[in-house]
Amino acid sequence: MSLNDAKNFLPLAAGTQRSVVVDKCQVCGNPDLKSLLFLGFLPPVNTMALIGSRPQEQPAYPAEMLLCPRCQLVQLGLIVDPAILFPPHYAYTSGTTRILRENFAQLYQEVMQLYPLAKTDLVVDVGSNDGTLLGNFQKGHRVCGIEPTNACKIAVERGIQTINSFFGRAAVAAALKAHGPASVVTATNVFAHIENIHEILNCIVALLGPQGLFISESHYLVGLVETLQYDTIYHEHLRYYSLTSLKYLLESEGLEVIHARLIPTHGGSIRVYDARKGSRPVSAAVAAILQREAEALRVERLRQFKSRVAASKLGLMALLKQLKEQGARLHGVGAPSRASTLVNHVGLDSNILECVLEIKGSYKLGKYMPGTLIPVLEESKLFADQPEYALLFSWHIADELIPKLRSKGYRGKFIVPLPEPRIVD
Ligand SMILES: [Zn+2]
Repeated sequence: MSLNDAKNFLPLAAGTQRSVVVDKCQVCGNPDLKSLLFLGFLPPVNTMALIGSRPQEQPAYPAEMLLCPRCQLVQLGLIVDPAILFPPHYAYTSGTTRILRENFAQLYQEVMQLYPLAKTDLVVDVGSNDGTLLGNFQKGHRVCGIEPTNACKIAVERGIQTINSFFGRAAVAAALKAHGPASVVTATNVFAHIENIHEILNCIVALLGPQGLFISESHYLVGLVETLQYDTIYHEHLRYYSLTSLKYLLESEGLEVIHARLIPTHGGSIRVYDARKGSRPVSAAVAAILQREAEALRVERLRQFKSRVAASKLGLMALLKQLKEQGARLHGVGAPSRASTLVNHVGLDSNILECVLEIKGSYKLGKYMPGTLIPVLEESKLFADQPEYALLFSWHIADELIPKLRSKGYRGKFIVPLPEPRIVD
């Protein structure tokens, strides 16, 4: 058994067509995991039946959030086969949201300021999607993407060399053969999604040159807890990282956290810079964030999360009850993955919410929200119907969405469902 196999503490869910119960910590193997929150059984986020089809039997998976007291990792209690979670028609392109585009442009500036790169330096993006991130590095440096989905075609059209493959040993070998070792490896918003995290990290280390930098961006646990983003808990997200837990994980693979910063993407993420242990100086930001986390993630705080989620759910239901009694019409806006958790945990159904609206071109149009008979329809319906209230499922970008919907002609009020449900005129 290799070191790597020894660190895969759980049997893989991939290829099973079902799920694997997490009975040991995904990172350190500790069997003594503490339950923080149970959201009930949730349907797979990307399984959406066509409008008009009769409801059929479908799976639902328990969504429990667990804490490992040894390495501080907060994680999901069940891993579902990715073939169920990411069906072939699943399509997500990172270029589509303004916040993400701006974030990657800022990432480039930050790298050039902190760790300036030469023209010959190679930047490899793991899960490079449509090449939005690498587009920033493309002019001044060598770039290579690794991307399993068809989104890589868009990247290739932009002139970004992309290896069309899942990230793993074979992809690393192909990248090394074609380009040599990387000066920078980036992995944004993929680190929480892949099971067998030690294998992935091992591959990343193999790709890095001696002075190489590994930069990850992950949804941030402290923000999740503080702003009550329980709706980001779903089966695509296997792990919810703090710098404390990331540090444990990265050190176990011979890396050292040298810098970190909180960034606004996905409602609050953390960008972490790592290098081989001892190869680069460690910035003061690392200790500062770790110290804040020691306070923000105290076990008592994490335990309060549960009662705050309950209060938020009851508050949203009370608000909706009041509005429905007044005879108000209610449309949902946006069907991101997080909407599925909110809808199913709170128990919103087609008797409460008439429809959910998505922009033209979304593959979710013409389907029902997971686990419900709420139809997903084109956004123009919002302006034609003018319901009294629009419930924002992408509430974490409400400040960006509200002016946009106003300028398109919506005249009603907005409901921001979390952290505390509120109405915005
Ligand atoms: Zn652990």
